[in-house]
Amino acid sequence: MSGPRPVRAARGNRLTTQGWQQEAALRMLHNNLDPEVAEHPDKLVVYGGTGRAARDWRSFDALSRTLRTLKNDETMLVQSGRPVGVMTTHEWAPRVLIANSNLVGDWANWEEFRRLEHLGLTMYGQMTAGSWIYIGTQGILQGTYETFAAVAAKRFGGSLAGTITLTAGLGGMGGAQPLAVTMNDGVAICVDCDPRAIERRIEHRFLDVRADSLEEALQLATDARDKRKPLSIGLLGNAAELLPRILGMGAPIDIVTDQTSAHDPLAYLPIGVDFADMAAFAAEKPADFTQRARESMARHVEAMVGFLDAGAEVFDYGNSIRGEAKLVGYGRAFDFPGFVPAYIRPLFCEGRGPFRWAALSGDPKDIAATDRAVLELFPENESLARWIQLAGERVHFQGLPARICWLGYGERERAGERFNDMVASGELSAPVAIGRDHLDCGSVASPYRETEGMLDGSDAIADWPLLNAMVNVASGASWVSLHHGGGVGMGRSIHAGQVTVADGTPLAGEKIQRVLTNDPGMGVIRHVDAGYDRAEEVAAEREVRIPMSEG
Ligand code: NAD
Repeated sequence: MSGPRPVRAARGNRLTTQGWQQEAALRMLHNNLDPEVAEHPDKLVVYGGTGRAARDWRSFDALSRTLRTLKNDETMLVQSGRPVGVMTTHEWAPRVLIANSNLVGDWANWEEFRRLEHLGLTMYGQMTAGSWIYIGTQGILQGTYETFAAVAAKRFGGSLAGTITLTAGLGGMGGAQPLAVTMNDGVAICVDCDPRAIERRIEHRFLDVRADSLEEALQLATDARDKRKPLSIGLLGNAAELLPRILGMGAPIDIVTDQTSAHDPLAYLPIGVDFADMAAFAAEKPADFTQRARESMARHVEAMVGFLDAGAEVFDYGNSIRGEAKLVGYGRAFDFPGFVPAYIRPLFCEGRGPFRWAALSGDPKDIAATDRAVLELFPENESLARWIQLAGERVHFQGLPARICWLGYGERERAGERFNDMVASGELSAPVAIGRDHLDCGSVASPYRETEGMLDGSDAIADWPLLNAMVNVASGASWVSLHHGGGVGMGRSIHAGQVTVADGTPLAGEKIQRVLTNDPGMGVIRHVDAGYDRAEEVAAEREVRIPMSEG
C-alpha cells in the first residue's frame, strides 16, 4: 500500500522521462505537493480547502509511473486525479489531458460531490491544484497587486501614493493585501480580529507595523500619506465594529474593500463575541452564530456604503459579503460593485491575465534571467516593471522558482518565445513550464466572480471554457485541464487551463507561438461577443478575426 511521504520535484537538466513535456508534467505534479508549496501534502491537498493534485496515493504513484514511461506520441488521460488511460496521439498533441470535478448540471452540488468523493470516484481540483501549476502565495500577491494597480489607474492617476486604503482580513489570501497596497505606493489599514494573523503577516514581511489603537492607526496612516510614503498598518479588532466607528470619525479614507472570510458565515466574527470564544460558539450553536454573523456583516457593509456615499472607492473582493448582508435585509448591499466588473474586466478585454512560469532547473538564477527578459520586452509598462522589481526583492520562492505577471494578447507569446530562445542558447540552465491560473480572461464561466455582470447577460454561459480547452489542445499545449467548481464552489464555475513547455526546440517554439496567441485570444473574442468596446478595439488593432464582424 502506498501512503503519504515527502514529495519534491527533481531539479537540474537531466531527464528522468522520455521528453521535456512529460518531465515538466512530472516535476510540476511533484512540485504541487512539495511541503513548501502544498497546505496539506500528506492529504495531497495543495490549497483552497480540499484542492488536490491527485485523487489518492495509489493514483499519485500511477501518475508518476506513467509519466516516466509516456512516449512523445502518447497522451495520458486523467479523470479527477487518477490516470485512466494512455492513447497513441502525435507529437503536437498534449502529453496529458485532465478533467477534474465535473458533474452534470442538476447533480452539481456539494452534497452529491462529497458523496462521490467519499466513494473514491472524484476529487476537488480547485483551479491550479489538480492541473499542476500552483506556485504558492506569489499568485495571490500578484493578483491583489494587479487589482490595486487597476484601482490606481482608474481613480488615482496610476499610483496609490497619497491615498489610504481601509480593509479587513489578513488570512491566507487576504494577507496579501497590505503588501499589494504598499507595492502600489499606498498606505493600508488592515483590520483583523485574530492577533496571530497580524503577527504572522509581520513575520513574513507582508505587513509593516501593528498599531495599538484605532487612533494610533489613523495617525500613522495620515502621517505616511502626507509624506507619500508606502506603509501598511495592522489593527486588531472586529471590522463590523471598527468600520462604522472610522466612518463616524470622518477619517480620510480613499479606498475600502474587505477580505474577511464572509463567504462562510461560521468563519466571520459577529459583533459582541470575543475572538477566543468564536470557535466554540460556531461549533455549539451554528444557526445562532450564522444569524449574528450575517447581521454583523450587514453593519459592516452599511459602513462600506457610508464610505461610498462619502466619495471613497469601494469594492467587494470576491468574498460574498454583499450577498450575506442582503440575506438579512440590508437593501443597499449591492450599491458597490465586485472587483471583476469594476477593475479586471477591462484587462480581460485586452486578453490580459495571470501568465506564470516555473524554472524546471530549480535554479533561482533562471527566474532572475527571465525577469530581466520581461523588463526588456515591455519597457513601457511601468506597473509591470514595478512588480517584477519588487517581486525579485520581496517574494520568497516556494518549491521550484517561479514568476507570475499579467500579460495580454500579443505579449504572452513574445515572452514565451523569448524564454524558448533562452533555453536553446543555454542562457537558462533547463526548460521552463509556462502556464497560468484558470482565473483568466477567456477560460472561466463563474457568475459570482469572473463573469459577474457581463454586458450581454451571458454570465452563466459555459461554452467559453470548453472552447478554451479545445483550442489549447488544437494549438499544441503540453497539458490541458478542464475543471468545475474551483474558487467559488460546486455548481458555480467551469474553467480551463493549459501549460506549455519551453524546451528550446523549434517545435516548442511553434507550439508556444500558437498556444500563447490563441489562449489569450479567447479573452478578446469572449468580450467582443459580449459587446465590450475595448475588446473590439483590441481585436481590430491586433488582428484577431471575428467572423460576425466580417462580410
Ligand atoms: P481566511 O479564512 O484565511 O482569513 C480570513 C480572516 O478574516 C481571518 O484572519 C479572520 O481572523 C478574519 N476575520 C473574520 N471575521 C472578522 C471580523 N469580523 N473582523 C475582522 N477580521 C475578521 O480566508 P482567506 O483565504 O484570506 O480569504 C478571505 C476571503 O476572500 C474569502 O471569502 C475568499 O473567498 C475571498 N477571496 C476572494 C478572492 C477573489 O475573488 N479573487 C481572492 C482571495 C480571497
